[in-house]
Amino acid sequence: MISIAIDGPSGSGKSTLANALADKLGFVHLDTGAIYRTVALYVMEKGVDPHDTGSVVALIEEMDIGDIKIEHVGGAQRMILDGEDVTGYIRTSEISSCASTISAIPAVRTFLLELQRDFARRNNVIMDGRDIGTVILPNATVKFFMTASDDARAERRCAELKEKGEDVTVEAVKAAMAERDKNDRTRKTAPAIPADDAIMLDNSGLFEDTVEKALKIIEEKIK
Ligand code: C5P
Repeated sequence: MISIAIDGPSGSGKSTLANALADKLGFVHLDTGAIYRTVALYVMEKGVDPHDTGSVVALIEEMDIGDIKIEHVGGAQRMILDGEDVTGYIRTSEISSCASTISAIPAVRTFLLELQRDFARRNNVIMDGRDIGTVILPNATVKFFMTASDDARAERRCAELKEKGEDVTVEAVKAAMAERDKNDRTRKTAPAIPADDAIMLDNSGLFEDTVEKALKIIEEKIK
């Protein structure tokens, strides 16, 4: 199976690139952030404080990995939690922050490791996240690490939240993103840093150029 890893900070355009590449190559796109967000939703629904590591770990230990299902409907990823499609509930600012907090807990990462690897064993995949090239798929066919300017990232994310009906400003989004990125980059387990063999992709400019560049690199590798 072929696997393409795309890591990078929030709002750098990983998911959009992964979608475009999956479309062009006929691969499946797995957005791993959505999996962490689904666990975050579960933690919140259970009324557990995400900063109370002991309680989060206890909750995860009781959880069955089979309670989380990933489906692809017409190319779009759906997250199913306990039989319910929760895809529409996991993109809020509150869930973003909770996902970032709980994803620093090693037990949470271990819980989700096999689910992600298993997906890559069964599909030609474009997987985007924070630790795909470093931890989940160390032997990925191609590894990218995406970056973009802080302004470009905040504007992108702000537009996304506004579309979902959240009343946000670019400044507030930028500050929340900086906080979340710092958490992700500095955590002890699986920090969001490029793998040694990752190819850096700057997505501050034209998106079409980024897609073309990535596609060329992948095609060169798999031909
Ligand atoms: O990618 P997205 O912004 O949806 O991810 C939400 C949060 O989940 C991130 O801020 C990060 O803390 C966590 N995450 C992670 N590892 C991944 C994907 C996401 O720690 N592979």
